[in-house]
Amino acid sequence: MVSLDQPLLIVTDLDGSLLDHHDYRWDAASEWLARLKQNQIPLVICSSKTAAEIIPLQKKLGIAGSPFIAENGARIVLEAEERRSEGQGHAYLALCQQLKGLQADFRFTGFHDFSDVEVSRFTGLTLAEASQSRQRDASEVVLWRDDAARLDEFRAALHQHGLALTQGGRFWHVMPEGCGKGHALQTLQQHLARREGITRTTIGLGDGPNDVPMLECVDYAVVIKGFSKTPVILTRDDEENVYHTAHVGPEGWREGLDYFLAQPD
Ligand SMILES: [Mg+2]
Repeated sequence: MVSLDQPLLIVTDLDGSLLDHHDYRWDAASEWLARLKQNQIPLVICSSKTAAEIIPLQKKLGIAGSPFIAENGARIVLEAEERRSEGQGHAYLALCQQLKGLQADFRFTGFHDFSDVEVSRFTGLTLAEASQSRQRDASEVVLWRDDAARLDEFRAALHQHGLALTQGGRFWHVMPEGCGKGHALQTLQQHLARREGITRTTIGLGDGPNDVPMLECVDYAVVIKGFSKTPVILTRDDEENVYHTAHVGPEGWREGLDYFLAQPD
């Protein structure tokens, strides 16, 4: 069992985990958020969302300035920083060019091809949020319109360009190979350990297949019950350190921390 008194680091996915899959609320998790803050336990967001989406959300969650992982691991933000500028990064625009070439062979649409209004319409995000979700730095979100059986072929084609495909909650994500949530978390942990001189025990929470690399490398893993048809399957053999929740979203998030963290009194 883990105690709130030891040096901990909580790593969390957002959609379907800390945030409700449908309305993006986190009411059920509020009590734990306050308790973590009170105990000075850092909460690291590890999400497919962009830095432009995560920074305002951190403010609302009361964790502004904490390091975080964006775009499924393709972007790591270690120190508090305001976004350099509005708009899209160079690496992202180069990636979109590569994807454009592949659209001759496969039917898919990327966020780059959509407008803010279209993204807002099919995600339920507000127009401002949709715009933030399109301010990308290093990875692309893809709506797959081709036969599901052709995904392997698409994967192979991406590999030719040094790119990898990951399944998110609603979409597919294309990013450079070798930079998923797991790699990003290890980089972030090394940075924190150097800065603080201690190695924190990690508890990770996630609900989707894109969380698997992160859930494999944390000390304690909370697999939140999800909506994805693809089950979250971990290969780690320390079953006692893995907990599967009965609840979905923030209720499951709360349930997972209740399970691993000793309650005060
Ligand atoms: Mg999720």
